[in-house]
Amino acid sequence: MLQLQDHSLRHVATAHLAQTMSLLSLSNEELKDKVMEELANNPALELLDEIVCPNCHARLSTRRLCPRCSAATGEQDSVVLISAREASGRNGSRRAEDDGDGLEPAAPESLAIYVLQQLAPELDPAERPLAAYVLSSLDEEGFLAEPQAFIARATRSSLAQVERVVSLISHCDPAGLATAGPRQALLAQLDLFPAESAEAQLARGVLQAGFEALASRDYETLARALGVRVGQVRKAAQFIQTNLNPFPARAYWGSGRSPRSADSNVYHAPDIQISQQLAGPMLVEIFSSFPGWLRVNPDFRKALPQADGDHSEAWKSHLERASLFVKCLQQRNNTMRKLMEEIVDRQRQFILEGDRKLFPMTRAELATRIGVHESTVSRAVANKGIALPDGRIIPLARFFDRSLSVRDRIKELIGQERKPLTDDEIASVLSGDGVQIARRTVAKYRSIEGILPARLRKKREAPA
Ligand SMILES: [Zn+2]
Repeated sequence: MLQLQDHSLRHVATAHLAQTMSLLSLSNEELKDKVMEELANNPALELLDEIVCPNCHARLSTRRLCPRCSAATGEQDSVVLISAREASGRNGSRRAEDDGDGLEPAAPESLAIYVLQQLAPELDPAERPLAAYVLSSLDEEGFLAEPQAFIARATRSSLAQVERVVSLISHCDPAGLATAGPRQALLAQLDLFPAESAEAQLARGVLQAGFEALASRDYETLARALGVRVGQVRKAAQFIQTNLNPFPARAYWGSGRSPRSADSNVYHAPDIQISQQLAGPMLVEIFSSFPGWLRVNPDFRKALPQADGDHSEAWKSHLERASLFVKCLQQRNNTMRKLMEEIVDRQRQFILEGDRKLFPMTRAELATRIGVHESTVSRAVANKGIALPDGRIIPLARFFDRSLSVRDRIKELIGQERKPLTDDEIASVLSGDGVQIARRTVAKYRSIEGILPARLRKKREAPA
């Protein structure tokens, strides 16, 4: 008897662990589906319409931050909490502050929809189908291969209308979409810089006069063509490299919307968001995936003794399942909170200052620090997007990408090179910095950053 009890306890503990682990690896969207599925199949589980704080269960009047839980106390430099608010998508931090209640749906959004939303005020209702046609014709990089005359015919629009709509699209965020190629994309992005900026003016000259020469870093030829000093051309090239993006759709992927996922061009609203008030503590919100409050239905529990034999077993199993589900959800929240507390503590500089400041850490180290198994950390990190204070949405896994700061350093070295550095030379500079990586690894990181090998970056010799 004793043994039997022990066995069934162990069974419950195992079920608990397995379910917590599987809940941990879900994104918010997936978790929401899972919760809805459980609700549909289990009458012992109920979702209360009330808006309560997921941390302290205080009632809130709208879906907003719980004043008690989000208040920083003492010297803390971060507050990590499960938030009753929903993610508000792109630039969530700023928008959520603006409208306060964060009622926007956390729905996936495609690049086309994102751009159409920006365009809406500018478009004549009759132009909407044309805009949608153009957006759906973009290739993976965001370029428009189809000739405008062809689009005019296909959509029964005038050429002037097509030109107007394409131009509007190319100046939306991410700028440069619907252009014919990298050069036109860069020029469209330049339109968004103040016209009086000397750097932007020279950059425009460079792009118009010698895109080929720019690509091969032939600054002398460019300087002669434009009648300026080589140093100025070099500055303009640096300006282009720093501020502009030749592949506009990639900027959109870069903010966490991976095109390589099953559903291309779709991004998910962040699962977690870090925001920072001026010089205040960082606020880390782990968004709750469903509205309201999930609990075991107390009436169902009270009714159990009245159930007759046949129903009694089924009801009992519903109750057990409901209470297990609620516990596992709480466990998921606790783990996510502990994980994020540790991450913001160690990666404060990366979060606030950028890629180079990434502190190398492994999932195993983090697991030890928060007292869980490494596989728990792996699942907690999986499939989550996190919005940073600057509005970027990155995969949570990025915090464990040891190559990030090295890649950033390689980009810098190449950006500053006088003559193209070979991968071997880059490896030896890095080794001087105390980073030992093989030439092959340099080549791999370089290609991840979309930088050509040295021989293709070669500067042409100035004619004698
Ligand atoms: Zn609270």
